[in-house]
Amino acid sequence: MAFQASHIPPDTLGDLGRSVSAEESDDSMSVEAPFTGERIGDVPACSPRDVTAAVSRARTARTEWSSWSIERRADVLSRFHDLVLDRQAELLDVMVLESGKARRDGYEEILDVATNARYYAARAEEFLRPRRRDGAIPLATKTMEYRTPVGVVGVITPWNYPLTLAVSDAIPALLAGNTVVLKPAEETPFTALLAAKLLREAGLPEDAFRVVTGWGDEVGLALIDAVDFVNFTGSTETGRTVAERAGKNLVKCSLELGGKNPMLVLDDADVSAAVEGAIRGCFTNAGQLCLSFERLYVQDGVYDRFLPRFVERTRELSMDPSFDYDVEVGSLVSERQFEKVRNHVDDAVSKGATAVVGGNARPDVGPYFFEPTILTGVTEEMTVAREETFGPVVAVTRFSDDEDGIALANDSDRGLNASVWTTDSDRGWEIARQIDCGTVGINDPYHAIWASVDSPMGGMKDSGIGRRHGREGIRKYTESQTVAEQRFASVAPPRRVPTKWYARAMTGVMRLFKRIEEGW
Ligand code: NAD
Repeated sequence: MAFQASHIPPDTLGDLGRSVSAEESDDSMSVEAPFTGERIGDVPACSPRDVTAAVSRARTARTEWSSWSIERRADVLSRFHDLVLDRQAELLDVMVLESGKARRDGYEEILDVATNARYYAARAEEFLRPRRRDGAIPLATKTMEYRTPVGVVGVITPWNYPLTLAVSDAIPALLAGNTVVLKPAEETPFTALLAAKLLREAGLPEDAFRVVTGWGDEVGLALIDAVDFVNFTGSTETGRTVAERAGKNLVKCSLELGGKNPMLVLDDADVSAAVEGAIRGCFTNAGQLCLSFERLYVQDGVYDRFLPRFVERTRELSMDPSFDYDVEVGSLVSERQFEKVRNHVDDAVSKGATAVVGGNARPDVGPYFFEPTILTGVTEEMTVAREETFGPVVAVTRFSDDEDGIALANDSDRGLNASVWTTDSDRGWEIARQIDCGTVGINDPYHAIWASVDSPMGGMKDSGIGRRHGREGIRKYTESQTVAEQRFASVAPPRRVPTKWYARAMTGVMRLFKRIEEGW
């Protein structure tokens, strides 16, 4: 076992904490290592005035940054891509240290950030290019659509993917010519600060990406009041507060919120593949993944083969406070998260559910470790039935025909991610299209949809508003502007022509346009 983060140069955390400018506040916040519960460093608890100052610096920096060509901005993000790969050991150590995640889960963040940097650096120009649009009168009207950066984008993030969520949504915002002020979660500020340092090393102007650390209800709300767009990732509950505040300010927002994600194993599924999919889908990042499955529905014909193998594989999973790649399940992030998971499991078991494997805290491993847990017999009155646990806990339920499975999957106020397992591809696609979730994987837990960055991703129902990835993931950080020039003929009635004649002529023109549109 390796308890040491060996790739973090001495005093790195101290330097990162000091890189936050908090002239208006003397307060600080401690950050702890979930593996041991010990304090590893401090960051400033910024005041609302510090937030306003950071946004004001970012606003000034925007003038220069947005004057750069997209190619020049893309060069910065391309260098950042290389730096993330080159400095992955240091990034991973900081991530594991402050979040308690397994290193292999941290590596997915390295891949994600590099993928987004590469994708948007290559495609931003195409997505934002000015476009000629059909004019009001063919030939007489020249109409162009432009994309203008919104200004300063506020990014507010949770702790579960401290690198990905801090950076991957900021990359398209920056490439579109905005500057960014990021408020990372209280639990994981150092990863965000290290990412900001790498962005500067890649050539980003000093104030184009600023980080403000502090408490959510103080710093988060002050940020929403100061910026031109809010990109929030976090719980549905906080998302409602963010949306209210943004609405009051008439500032646009994009909300990536919580899930209660279903996985369906159909009776023709490859059982071994489905078991491995469930292991990854339920227990990656100790279940603290917005896309992970907490409701697993298994069709009658395969249930008795699936469940024992899923239980056996779950029992084999290794759990350790280690910085090495060999560990499969890491710690929960904090005492608060640990208590929530324990309460959900205790509540379910006290009301009649069975923990067929797991169900226990593991203080012998670390203060916040909790065993990967499979519950059966979960019923409506249990908290775990509908509320997001956000831990390594899944409820397994049987279903009979496909319609029942689809109805069970859709019986939730959340709609983030789902997965369908079958050897019949057509059946998989047909069912996927009937599930009310923003993303659905077929024979894949979440990697295929997450890594398909060319296609939009986000939540339906109470799981969010707006999308990341693809064209939508960058255009949301822009305002469209239409410029139209009218040449020789006018759309308005010409002077001296009686309106009656004009109306008659235009009615004829409208009929003609419709026939042309319909191809005569
Ligand atoms: P959270 O909502 O408690 O906190 C998220 C962020 O919001 C933190 O930075 C926090 O400081 C800040 N915040 C808290 N109160 C605020 C307020 N009043 N105004 C503005 N900001 C405020 O969420 P969490 O517990 O840190 O994260 C877990 C949740 O995030 C889960 O529900 C998970 O599903 C969700 N999540 C969603 C996605 C996604 O892409 N859909 C990704 C990761 C996590």
